[in-house]
Amino acid sequence: MRQSHFFVQTLREVPAEAEVPSHRLMLRAGMIRQVVSGVYSYLPLGYRVLRKIEAIVREEMDRAGAQEVLLPAVQPASLWQESGRWDDYGKELLRFEDRHQRMLVLGPTHEEVITDLVRTEVRSYRQLPMTLYQIQTKFRDEVRPRFGVMRAREFIMKDAYSFDVDEEGLDRSYRAMYQAYEQIFRRCGLEFRVVQADPGAIGGEGGSHEFMVLSEVGEDTILVCPACDYAANVELASGKVAGEDGRRSVSEKERFLTPGAKTIEELRDRYGLDPETIIKVLVYRADDRPVAVAIRGNDEVNEVKLKRLLGARRVELADEETVRALTGTGFGSVGPMNLNMPLVVDDAVASMPEGVAGGNEPDVHYRHVVPGRDFNWDSRGDIRTARAGDRCVRCGAPLEEYRGIEVGHVFKLGTKYSEALSASFLDERGVQRPVIMGCYGIGVSRLIAAAVEQHHDDKGIMWPMPIAPFHVHVLPVNLKDAAQRDAAEQLCTRLEDAGIEVLLDDRDERPGVKFNDADLMGIPIQLIVGKRISEGLVEMKRRKTGEVTLLSPDEAVRAAVEAVRSV
Ligand code: ATP
Ligand code: MG
Repeated sequence: MRQSHFFVQTLREVPAEAEVPSHRLMLRAGMIRQVVSGVYSYLPLGYRVLRKIEAIVREEMDRAGAQEVLLPAVQPASLWQESGRWDDYGKELLRFEDRHQRMLVLGPTHEEVITDLVRTEVRSYRQLPMTLYQIQTKFRDEVRPRFGVMRAREFIMKDAYSFDVDEEGLDRSYRAMYQAYEQIFRRCGLEFRVVQADPGAIGGEGGSHEFMVLSEVGEDTILVCPACDYAANVELASGKVAGEDGRRSVSEKERFLTPGAKTIEELRDRYGLDPETIIKVLVYRADDRPVAVAIRGNDEVNEVKLKRLLGARRVELADEETVRALTGTGFGSVGPMNLNMPLVVDDAVASMPEGVAGGNEPDVHYRHVVPGRDFNWDSRGDIRTARAGDRCVRCGAPLEEYRGIEVGHVFKLGTKYSEALSASFLDERGVQRPVIMGCYGIGVSRLIAAAVEQHHDDKGIMWPMPIAPFHVHVLPVNLKDAAQRDAAEQLCTRLEDAGIEVLLDDRDERPGVKFNDADLMGIPIQLIVGKRISEGLVEMKRRKTGEVTLLSPDEAVRAAVEAVRSV
């Protein structure tokens, strides 16, 4: 491909709207352009990378025995009403009306459509197991689209769905996808961790793992044990903290005044109280019913865990007016004693020997408050957000915290959708049973951004070979020099004949401009044809390491072919 005719426009200025390196570099290298918030066009350079990733995904899905289909982006509202998600999915679901006043949605995911397909096509256990996948455009009306294609509203996803006759079958299908995912992300050159995950809006009770590309700009926090294989999204991670049930203080509780202290920080600064010894009580609304939640002063409530413990669909903090009406006091002096609503305590609170707690009257606290003696609870569980330094629940080693970009997610759905939509099959004995499902997603377009986050420097992108838009960038330094031009052309022909993808910078630009653009675009191998071609030498530069070697054109072709084939 000749760069003079290649549809790419690099930008020298850093686009002001781009907050993270991948977004900046993808814009600057001319890979993508925004059409409207969270909606992008892929230009040839960007689309070539997208197709490379798609090809790897297809190969591994096919190898795992999945079959490719293509489902529509437009879906009838009726299917979403049947599954119950018409009400549950919220504003991310883009709904619209056709000319016959029938409601439709632009699919954010395809459990409904695929279950509908399977309920009409699959009748017998003989047709199972089966895993179907597609690579397709999804639409989610994200509250905060950002970071370019990382969190877009329209994006490309690979989604797969498995259908089995029993749990053991689901385990096998799930493992096959899990392993295919590891292979895909490895082949894309990514450093990733697999973590236990919350099933979220897709639902299902079985199990769920996320594939996280490690990166500072990741929106997810993950906790990883350096000593064993425990790793989990902070949404559900647990960590052990000091304190064991049973060691109770014998001091009587004692009232004291705390005027002017409404927050844990103020209690610490004005009254010298250690946040770890404070029993903080927050009032929540769980599906509109009030519930008090007790947590240590240095901890945060994990609302995902709280929701699960309460079996609630929604939890949100109550406002101060509600708190006052329920407890007789405002924020800051709410406590666990004598409450007229259910109390949920975190395990770390339940096992405190004693603590300082609000007295449910303005400016009053109590010290030597003993959980189980001075107050009781309706339920307890792990509802705090785990953090670095907590002990691993499996082996006790201190957990480490990382940021991750979620590039893949696998779920065991069980019968959630097959029951809601009545997708069943006849088993060997002629009994009708619901199909057991799993679902498996990869953010194909998000993967591009994740790869750039892990592979860039201050000059630009450094593509891993398997997903690079081209393998080799040939750069004649001075096009007016016939020897350089001819040698560059010949190199291209020979490389292309060997099946190598080459971009030839045949633009009449200053060398500095060409070198900068080449570093920005990040093609893994640069072959620079300059003055020394008169001695039969070209320079081969590896973009990733910056390593430069002087080679004959023959050697350069051989080395490039080898570098491409060895991945
Ligand atoms: P997130 O928590 O990042 O919103 P999710 O849990 O909603 O992701 P899934 O429903 O599991 O995502 O979708 C499967 C995959 O699709 C995700 O692992 C992610 O890689 C990708 N994905 C989800 N939302 C977006 C988005 N807005 N833009 C780009 N990719 C996305
Ligand atoms: Mg989401």
